[in-house]
Amino acid sequence: MADRYKIPRGTFDILPEESYKWQYVKNVFHQIAQAYNYREIVTPIFEVSQLFERTVGDSSDIVQKEMYKFQDKKGRTFALRPEGTASVVRSYVENNLHMNNYGDRLFYMGPMFRYDRPQKGRYRQFYQYGVEYFGSQNAYVDAEVIALAYQFLKTLGLNNFQLEINSIGCPNCSKDYDKALVDFFTPHLGELCQDCNNRIKKNPKRLLDCKIPTCKAIAANAPSMLDYLDEECQQDFDSLQKYLTDLEIPFTINPRIVRGLDYYRKTAFEFINNNLGAQNALCGGGRYDGLVKQLGGKDVPAIGFAGGFERLILSMENEGLSFGEIPKPKYFFVMLGNDAKEVGLPLLNKIRVQNIVADAAPDKASLKAQMKAANKSGAPFTLILGDEELKKNIIFLKDMETGDQKEIALDNILEQLDSIK
Ligand code: AMP
Repeated sequence: MADRYKIPRGTFDILPEESYKWQYVKNVFHQIAQAYNYREIVTPIFEVSQLFERTVGDSSDIVQKEMYKFQDKKGRTFALRPEGTASVVRSYVENNLHMNNYGDRLFYMGPMFRYDRPQKGRYRQFYQYGVEYFGSQNAYVDAEVIALAYQFLKTLGLNNFQLEINSIGCPNCSKDYDKALVDFFTPHLGELCQDCNNRIKKNPKRLLDCKIPTCKAIAANAPSMLDYLDEECQQDFDSLQKYLTDLEIPFTINPRIVRGLDYYRKTAFEFINNNLGAQNALCGGGRYDGLVKQLGGKDVPAIGFAGGFERLILSMENEGLSFGEIPKPKYFFVMLGNDAKEVGLPLLNKIRVQNIVADAAPDKASLKAQMKAANKSGAPFTLILGDEELKKNIIFLKDMETGDQKEIALDNILEQLDSIK
């Protein structure tokens, strides 16, 4: 027997009966991003691994445990991208993408890869949508980016989600805050997990983000970043809240949001859907003002977000939302006999080139088998062409719902079909 293969763990096929849902959410994202004047950028799915090690941060789970790293035939070390921002910034710097002097708005969509324990809503290959705004430090822009994400979720019809915002300050605020965290956590080191023990030296904020229940319980009483914001960060955070209120976007403040990556500053936010279970983050983002410079560009401030399509689709299914029309043919062509098949082929094509979805089952011979296929296709109309009809230069049009059948002339079939709604 031939070998049969299985899909890699943590990945999934998007099968034909699901793919229209993906198409739908991607189209809506495209539309919304364009309405906010964001332009698409597409980067490769692999990059030199250092790009992520240096930016995402070597204390992050992504870099420590989750990167798909490999060497190519020349021994260069690459990684499948675990997230989109580092690649977009790399491209922004490499291509001098200072398209506008008032801010550059970019969006992307595509697969990301993380070697994590697969579970509902968490995969090893998953698909993200995201935006990045380069060139402004203004909290106005933070509000715009959040508004775009909110508008996207709302346009899909989602209701069961909450926006949580935080400010994680800047390196200036972190000096005192990191020290306060170290002081707070140090007496608990014996109770904290190994990861937290390692992280406390490199990035103590990350201890706020640990998912292990004992660590979580301890972190619940840790000092809040919001008590350590310097004047500028506090002002920006106040402005963001005002702008979101002006935009009528409901939010709550959650001082525990730290985001998983090292490069964030000031605004951090997440859209949460509590019906999703453990993996409840629909999308998340934040400001990363130092990153462009860190990757060799100018000192350009930036903010962005990314979300996963899988959790989005799951949430939409949970809320019973529509993904637009399920694709199906409008006409199913039943052709009886070789002559009808010969005449039928260009006719079928004529319909299709008008962008009208039409199908046929050329390998089925009998009327019964072809009608069965027509029924299965879900087409509301069937066109039936046999020898008798050919002689009379007509074709039967059958309304599959009512069963009504009428003759139409083959010669101007398109015009006649056109008049059917
Ligand atoms: P992150 O880059 O970790 O902030 O993730 C941003 C968003 O991507 C999350 O809110 C999820 O919607 C999605 N996401 C992240 N990791 C995964 C994963 N392993 N599987 C599915 N979706 C994910």
